[in-house]
Amino acid sequence: MSTAGQVIRCKAAVAWESGKPLSIEEVEVAPPQKDEVRIKILFTSLCHTDVYFWDAKGQNPLFPRILGHEAGGIVESVGEGVTDLKPGDHVLPIFTGECKECPHCLSEESNMCDLLRINTDRGEMINDGKSRFSINGKPIYHFLGTSTFSEYTVVHVGQVAKINPEAPLDKVCVLSCGMSTGFGATVNVAKPKKGQSVAIFGLGAVGLAAAEGARVSGASRIIGVDLNPSRFELAKNFGVTEFVNPKDHKKPVQEVIAEMTGGGVDRSVECTGSIQAMISAFECVHDGWGVAVLVGVPNKDDAFKTHPVNLLNERTLKGTFFGNYKPRTDIPAVVERYMNKELELDKFITHSVPFSEINKAFEYMLAGEGLRCVIRMVA
Ligand code: NAD
Ligand code: ZN
Repeated sequence: MSTAGQVIRCKAAVAWESGKPLSIEEVEVAPPQKDEVRIKILFTSLCHTDVYFWDAKGQNPLFPRILGHEAGGIVESVGEGVTDLKPGDHVLPIFTGECKECPHCLSEESNMCDLLRINTDRGEMINDGKSRFSINGKPIYHFLGTSTFSEYTVVHVGQVAKINPEAPLDKVCVLSCGMSTGFGATVNVAKPKKGQSVAIFGLGAVGLAAAEGARVSGASRIIGVDLNPSRFELAKNFGVTEFVNPKDHKKPVQEVIAEMTGGGVDRSVECTGSIQAMISAFECVHDGWGVAVLVGVPNKDDAFKTHPVNLLNERTLKGTFFGNYKPRTDIPAVVERYMNKELELDKFITHSVPFSEINKAFEYMLAGEGLRCVIRMVA
């Protein structure tokens, strides 16, 4: 029996208020409209960005909301005008989109689509400004256009990457955000040359994916910086060669790194979300040629402060969403790199829980335990 064109009732984990455990509810998911697809989510994982908007201390609160943006699933039905996806396609929903028509999508250098770039404050679909989720007729807000903490979700076609149907969705789901973001931040944006040194701030899944990028690029030294010493043991499997805990030093960590490296690292990638770490990540690169890349999501009132001479001295500061990958054009090939065993993903997945225990994934992340927790939507 096809469900196309009909409202689907299914389970979703709803965040009713900031910082309170999610509750599994029966929700109604409306059919996809023009340029939208409805996806059956099979696996989703938790990224720190979900946690920021769940606890909403440094972000604009928007509730009730269905969070989640790192996932893999299968297309259930498509709306009007969708021609390049069909029911049964294996897909990764992506938090930032690609319309393929705007100046950004037409530029080789940008993935900041005018229509579908990341928007953390929007809780509705762009087509009609309404939500596709409801409980007894009361709308529930979307998150990042993906809302993957639901058995079914509706996503704009521009935010859906169609991938090899043989790729195991319980593994490649982490390419839907964190691993592509970190890996791309290094290989597409920081672009270390063979033999150069790279500092990685934040050794969570995103930072360790950035370290993988450094390893694949042939970096000579990969210096991991984290406040949580339990990360250092884990990070040894990711090619990180040296560790610095800012808490172990009296002087600022950028000075410690400058001393370790004779003036600074060649490249740095910040994956913490801490404004202090962002500033340190910039100031620890070598003058004359150093490049720093910011990846972490800041609080809404943060401001980046450094002396302009740090820039005049020929350091470069960059930032990136999703590792500069264009989701529809580039992600299928990143999945192929995993299928060809060039890219390891399994080691990022340290935990797995059934959907009914989704709150455990939040507990692991808040405790700084493990890297990615994959949530199994189907028993
Ligand atoms: P995570 O919580 O697993 O890892 C973050 C790590 O940073 C932790 O190990 C933590 O101990 C460390 N840390 C925090 N403050 C620090 C500091 N001042 N100095 C050194 N280390 C510090 O998170 P994650 O899922 O790996 O995400 C990392 C960051 O990347 C988050 O801010 C997330 O929102 C962001 N993110 C950005 C994008 C993007 O496209 N730009 C995409 C995904 C995630
Ligand atoms: Zn994410």
